[in-house]
Amino acid sequence: MENLVDIHNHCCLSSDSAAKPEDMARTAFELGVSHFSLTDHVELDEFHDGEWDYYAAIAKTRPTFDKLSAEYDGKMNIYYGVEIGQPMYNLHAAEEILAEHNYDFVLGSVHRTCHYEHMGKIPDNEFDRKRVIIEYWEDMLNLVEWGKFSSLAHMTFLLRFASVDTPAGVVADKTERARAAFDTYKTIIDKILETIVKKDIALEVNSSGFRRGLGGPMPDAAFINRYRELGGKMITVGSDAHQTADIAKDIEKCYEVLRGCGFNEICVFKRKEPIFIKI
Ligand SMILES: [Zn+2]
Ligand SMILES: [Zn+2]
Repeated sequence: MENLVDIHNHCCLSSDSAAKPEDMARTAFELGVSHFSLTDHVELDEFHDGEWDYYAAIAKTRPTFDKLSAEYDGKMNIYYGVEIGQPMYNLHAAEEILAEHNYDFVLGSVHRTCHYEHMGKIPDNEFDRKRVIIEYWEDMLNLVEWGKFSSLAHMTFLLRFASVDTPAGVVADKTERARAAFDTYKTIIDKILETIVKKDIALEVNSSGFRRGLGGPMPDAAFINRYRELGGKMITVGSDAHQTADIAKDIEKCYEVLRGCGFNEICVFKRKEPIFIKI
């Protein structure tokens, strides 16, 4: 694989990973990854009152990046990245962090909504299934309208956790959820995709959907095709690895899906500017 790219990864500077940053980078290099980024979480809704000390973690990200960049200079392209979750819940802090840190690459994410703090604990009934998915898309639309990031992360993340109610009934099968959600919520999904196209925000194709049982990347081909139809040209890819074993996992499967959707190149971001790479 000539251009194995993985620019969505986490290390112990995220609260949900124990991996050492140097182990993540070394594994990526050994696997032949040519473009790599650590994108540790900054969850803005819990920034001030959660248990995790974001200030301490964020303060370590730049020195970590500088050290790894020096170590792999000329061997692997490394970008200074971050994944900001729920920025709309603390816009002031989000903008302050972005102003203070000269990130190359910023992922924008929705990991929870106002009524559902833990996606893994959504009650499986019609009221909650419908409310969470509407809140999820509305939060995502707000996120992209704000738009101060490079790529929209794992657009169908919610579908790892929630069945989808459609006019024809509940779709519980994980591999069918993306199609059901795409058809049922087409209007707001179109608005989200139109907005990222208009604002030059990339669409991330996240390979973890394969290992989470969704049968494809997040989002899958239906969303990627629609993004392309609406004029979208910028795709980023990432494994969302939180441990060395998942680095670059199923990225090649993402490339196959992307080629099937008519994409022959993806991009990485350096100082927030896209650089296109053939796949
Ligand atoms: Zn995420
Ligand atoms: Zn992530």
